[in-house]
Amino acid sequence: MNQNYEKLKQYVDKAAALGAALSLFGWDNETLAPKNSMEKTSKLVGILSSEYFNTIINDEVEQLLKELKVDNTLEEVEKAVVRCFAEDIDSLKTIPPQDFVAYSELTSKASSIWANARVENNFKLFEPVLAEIIEYNKKFAGTQAKDGQKIYDVKLDEYEKSFHITDLDEFFNQLKDTIVPLLKKIKEKEGFIKSDFLFKHYDIEKQKKFNHWITEYMGFDYSRGVLGESEHPFTTNLHREDVRMTTYYFENNLESAIFSSIHECGHALYEQGIDDKYAMTPVGQGASCATHESQSRFFENIIGRSRSFWVPIYDKLVELFPENLSDVTLDDFVKAINRVHADEIRTEADELTYCLHIMVRYEIEKKIFEENYPIDKLPQLWNQLYEEYLGVIPANDSIGILQDVHWSGGMFGYFPSYALGNAFSAQIYNQMKKDINVNKLLEEGNIKEIVQYLNTHVHQYGRSKTAKQILFDVTGEEFNPKYYIEYLTEKYSTLYEL
Ligand code: ZN
Repeated sequence: MNQNYEKLKQYVDKAAALGAALSLFGWDNETLAPKNSMEKTSKLVGILSSEYFNTIINDEVEQLLKELKVDNTLEEVEKAVVRCFAEDIDSLKTIPPQDFVAYSELTSKASSIWANARVENNFKLFEPVLAEIIEYNKKFAGTQAKDGQKIYDVKLDEYEKSFHITDLDEFFNQLKDTIVPLLKKIKEKEGFIKSDFLFKHYDIEKQKKFNHWITEYMGFDYSRGVLGESEHPFTTNLHREDVRMTTYYFENNLESAIFSSIHECGHALYEQGIDDKYAMTPVGQGASCATHESQSRFFENIIGRSRSFWVPIYDKLVELFPENLSDVTLDDFVKAINRVHADEIRTEADELTYCLHIMVRYEIEKKIFEENYPIDKLPQLWNQLYEEYLGVIPANDSIGILQDVHWSGGMFGYFPSYALGNAFSAQIYNQMKKDINVNKLLEEGNIKEIVQYLNTHVHQYGRSKTAKQILFDVTGEEFNPKYYIEYLTEKYSTLYEL
């Protein structure tokens, strides 16, 4: 092995170990950590973060990377590791170390402050810490901005390279022009689809059994992962042999946990499917946030809400809950899980209105970073945009501006990747249908072949290819939102007989 690379690898390994420890604390915070642990645990997180920072940002690493970037003797995997490690460092190196530690402690604390504010339905409790997080983000982005670059573009770049305000404005405008009028027509047909049976009493133990089963059916390898519970479902991993997803069960809602689990399983299959040669390096993760979301939302919506997916497995659900489902036909069930319900909660949103929820957050983030919008006025702005796009005004801040965990973690610029992920998934699906008979495979219960297709074209590469490269290599063209818009228009015009 190349000597310089060998030296660098020691830093890469240490960063992976510290990163895994931080991920484990992140997981624990959301799942099992006791409420009063926050203060002291956030100190530990601060120390580990500082170690992480010093491990990747120091003179020796900088010198090694400089030489390795132009070293032609490196193997493919090594080259990818050097490129991704350098990218991770670039996004951090302009931040003063003491700020980085203070900020890590702050965001570690903020998630429980946010959770409490949400329970208390009181934005004022969250406002000071949110303001602090925003200030840090502006400061960090300011130091990272290249000549004349907009602050919000720096934030967007962190999660999805090369999709900037101008691209997103165009993408969202196209969506808005199609979906807002379509939604109006659908709203005129209120009551067209019955769904009351989804909201009867559903025993949680039985739900757990089904959610475990369905994720295994999709191909999740339980010898290399777990399904836990958290209020806000998510997926994380320590490495490819320890991939952790969560879901959340409601006693009076059958679909919420199922579609959260299917969504998270889409993320998890991606993580479990990355080639082992990239494991425990910066290459051993998804290509980008939107690419990750393209996988989770592909399974949640395009697959999970399709009739074909339920053909071989609906009986199993009826067997578990005969008291609620024995007189509900497969067709009625499929219609119900696809119904449009424009209400306040993003994570419970239907496939059609989901992007409108994202647009609200995008507009607000743009105002925060580009117009210095006052923080105390955000709840009103939130409600105003919900009324404009979705035609609903949240009754309170818990189901309004306090509903998402992201801002407490400083994740500004992340939301658009959900919408881009949807569009990526429709574009990939358009190609997949040409290559394999998706519906037939689903009806035969052969979902593994679909996972295999994604594994071959997307998962295995990890971060060794960029999002744009992956999309181009699978579909033969650049990002094109028309597939997503066509998919939504056709699906919902048919469903609502418009
Ligand atoms: Zn997701």
